[in-house]
Amino acid sequence: MEVRDKILVVEDDAGICNVMVAVLSTNRYEVLTAASGRQADTLVRSHCPDLVLLDLGLPDLDGLELIRRVRGWSGMPIVVVSARSQEADKVAALDAGADDYIVKPFGAEELLARIRTALRHARSAGVSAEIARTGRLRVGGLEIDYDKRQVAVDGQPVHLTPNEYKILALLGKNTGRVLTYDAIIQELWGPGTQSDNQILRVNMANIRRKIEKNPAEPQYVFTEAGVGYRMAEEK
Ligand code: CA
Repeated sequence: MEVRDKILVVEDDAGICNVMVAVLSTNRYEVLTAASGRQADTLVRSHCPDLVLLDLGLPDLDGLELIRRVRGWSGMPIVVVSARSQEADKVAALDAGADDYIVKPFGAEELLARIRTALRHARSAGVSAEIARTGRLRVGGLEIDYDKRQVAVDGQPVHLTPNEYKILALLGKNTGRVLTYDAIIQELWGPGTQSDNQILRVNMANIRRKIEKNPAEPQYVFTEAGVGYRMAEEK
């Protein structure tokens, strides 16, 4: 019997909710819906969905609060789908524990692609398992050798500083996902480190100069303006 992934759609706008349900159902997902935060909280606990699509503007509580509640006991993937398009809103959601963030209005293909990425990450058979098994990550012509701490592009070794390597290695373990500036800084320099996005930007400019054919149009590491960085998915 085919096991289908179960997705909980948390959305109080009936029109948007119906569109999402239609898109998900035709793509063979099992779908549950909740129109309020409290209902979502209950369904998350009783049905343990494989993934949650979460609107932030809910009638009874803020979606951010729901993310924090769920993160108190579960690492289930949460993809925010919100009309809030400010950088600060994306950062807040990602730092609260959301896996990804989509701004309304969204395209069906984008929604499905983000869902696939989040589900893949939730399964340990994803990128980390691949790295653990082979010690390497390949994204197009970029190769990171985690055992030797070496990076090559199209077979040519690239010389990175220790910090540049750490940043690239971290992004490589999270391909397809946005890592916020803060998340990267905390991971690299320890919790409580004063956030200094400027240092990160300088490092990223140097990394791009070394690995990208055209640093202005990167193909390996993308900037989510004002939010963070995302490494391209494995190909
Ligand atoms: Ca809403």
